[in-house]
Amino acid sequence: MPPIVDPKKCNGCEGREESFCEEACPGDLMYVGADGKSHCHAARDCWDCMSCVKMCPRGAIETKMPYQLGYHKATLRPIMGKDSITWKCTDIHGKTVMYRYRNRLERKG
Ligand code: SF4
Ligand code: SF4
Repeated sequence: MPPIVDPKKCNGCEGREESFCEEACPGDLMYVGADGKSHCHAARDCWDCMSCVKMCPRGAIETKMPYQLGYHKATLRPIMGKDSITWKCTDIHGKTVMYRYRNRLERKG
């Protein structure tokens, strides 16, 4: 499922030569358009690695769970902390579970 960018939150990583999501995507799928917002130019090539979601400092990107994993109402969201990542998993019934792990590397801004 392609990443979904919230245009109200995305500022195109103003001031950076390359946006965080462009830099993070291993498939080189993200770009900042003339509208100053991030987009995915080849949605079918996205394999839901969530690197772009994790790197966005504004929480502007979301991915939907592939139907094989959780049907359309289920979500999995990474919430980045300074030295940890918290995974927020919500199943199709709305039940939420959170898992927190320490990161080995501190995020650089
Ligand atoms: S990292 Fe976030 S704020 Fe920056 S361009 Fe991508 S979606 Fe927009
Ligand atoms: S989820 Fe992964 S493959 Fe898909 S656009 Fe984001 S970084 Fe690229």
